[in-house]
Amino acid sequence: MSQTMQTEPDVDQASVPLLECRGVRAGYGDITVVRELDLAAAPGSVVAVLGPNGAGKTTLLTTLAGLLKAQAGEVRIDGSPIRAGQPAAASAAGVVLVPDDRALFTTLTVEENIRAARGGRSRDALDRVFGWFPALADRRRLAAGSLSGGEQQMLAVARALVQDPRVLLVDEMSMGLAPVIVEDLMPMVRRVADDTGAVVVLVEQHVRLALEVADRGLVLVHGEVVLDRPAAELAADPDTLERAYLGEGVA
Ligand code: ATP
Repeated sequence: MSQTMQTEPDVDQASVPLLECRGVRAGYGDITVVRELDLAAAPGSVVAVLGPNGAGKTTLLTTLAGLLKAQAGEVRIDGSPIRAGQPAAASAAGVVLVPDDRALFTTLTVEENIRAARGGRSRDALDRVFGWFPALADRRRLAAGSLSGGEQQMLAVARALVQDPRVLLVDEMSMGLAPVIVEDLMPMVRRVADDTGAVVVLVEQHVRLALEVADRGLVLVHGEVVLDRPAAELAADPDTLERAYLGEGVA
């Protein structure tokens, strides 16, 4: 008698999102700021999180980084849930946040800033990061506080990259920078995703520039995702974007 072989179904690893949020709710005490947020991002993709002031964008990033404990829902990296409100767990899973205040040690040199972020990692990591940012390599012995705004932002990203992020969270990279500087910096985000396979979640007020480098654009209004579409589609439809920002319903 022939016997039928029972085999495990093939698990297609490529179909497992690198970053996934399921019903994430976040806020402060009794206040809920982000409501039931779902998100799935494949390796090497850039997600632009857009929306008006106070929509909950930074709250979402701090929740993903484990700095704020989600009120409900789940964040998964490579399919594994990350313990909520545990920065060390998020960090061990490869989640790195570039905060909007850049969090540099202004009296330390460029190189010291990068070394401080690197922890025990190899010299190669430092060289690799300087390869990404030749302008920083040239200024490695200067105090971080003496750099221009754009260079300081580069340094903040360099400090994140030296940690080999799998999920890079970038909050308002353009804060306080002239648009022309932002235009130079933004392609770097695309390159990080393309070259390292990391997911980049980019919170940004410069909507047009963010959508130019993103794969997907998500608009948060009052903590709810009111639009979630391919970035190119959103970039080509400014009217829909504007209506979403104003809290008007979009089809
Ligand atoms: P912006 O674009 O202005 O930076 P945002 O979309 O990043 O805004 P959040 O900073 O996440 O928005 O803030 C969302 C809401 O949460 C705001 O109403 C804000 O006042 C509130 N909020 C932020 N931080 C705290 C906190 N530590 N305690 C209480 N409420 C907070």
